[in-house]
Amino acid sequence: MTAQVIDGKAIAARVRQRIGERVAELKAKGVTPGLAVVLVGDDPASRVYVGMKKKNCIELGMYSADHELPESTSEADLLALIGQLNADERVHGILVQLPLPSHIDSDKVLEAISPDKDADGFHPFNVGRLAIGKPTFQPCTPYGVMVMLDEIGYDLTGKEVVVVGRSNIVGKPVALMCLARHATVTICHSRTKDLAEVVRRADVVIAAVGKAEMVKGDWIKPGAVVIDVGINRVGEKKLVGDVEYAAAAERASAITPVPGGVGPMTIAMLLQNTLESAERKLRQ
Ligand code: NDP
Repeated sequence: MTAQVIDGKAIAARVRQRIGERVAELKAKGVTPGLAVVLVGDDPASRVYVGMKKKNCIELGMYSADHELPESTSEADLLALIGQLNADERVHGILVQLPLPSHIDSDKVLEAISPDKDADGFHPFNVGRLAIGKPTFQPCTPYGVMVMLDEIGYDLTGKEVVVVGRSNIVGKPVALMCLARHATVTICHSRTKDLAEVVRRADVVIAAVGKAEMVKGDWIKPGAVVIDVGINRVGEKKLVGDVEYAAAAERASAITPVPGGVGPMTIAMLLQNTLESAERKLRQ
């Protein structure tokens, strides 16, 4: 069997196109969706992400507010800025780029963001709503995974999903989203016994570990769908996922590549969350 390659770049482009159409509709009603991105310090990778977010925002006709603050910014000053953005009518989504410098308490900052503008979906209030199955901001990477499954027409009802990784940004929320779609979900982590045997049961494997190719191809049940969230640098330039891609692709029915799989979805879903926030505001 040769797996269908799930093309994240193409799916993200379709998501962006649909967002652009809805932005135009909102603008016709007098509302321009706005995203505020806050970057503290000079981390080069964060700077690249923030630049991409801004570019995408502008291309789709959204309002983009950038706040680039020096490494030495105090926690109090950052909290004051968040307070201003919470009150700013032009801003429907606020994203604070992580990691923050070590003298700032990230949890305190994320909790200061209004739950109504929580474009990343990390506020405990929204995490709670996700857990109890209420509509809310959905964390961007897991939301992207769900859209990819939708795009290949995959119905999770009654399926065995095995999530490898239990982080708050990927593993746990993606597991909750699969549960909401009536899958039978197992969450694995570093203490899981006999990971290979658990993964062998899966109709859908979602790997979010951060270890190059640790999920082996022969663990994949023939016909399973494989979603690889991992991004691991090998050597100078090469990127690989958490799944042994070539061997897994021989057994899976569909698989996401790395790069070009889940990666491109994350920013698209951030913009989707900002759009949905502006639409909710209009309905209020
Ligand atoms: P974390 O480091 O926060 O979590 C990793 C998880 O993997 C932990 O739950 C850990 O278990 C588990 N784990 C570690 N080793 C093993 C093992 N040997 N067997 C089973 N489970 C193990 O990572 P993130 O969730 O933040 O990210 C995961 C990967 O996804 C990374 O490669 C990251 O770069 C990528 N990523 C990609 C994004 C995208 O846009 N595509 C966005 C976010 C992340 P324990 O809890 O027990 O320690």
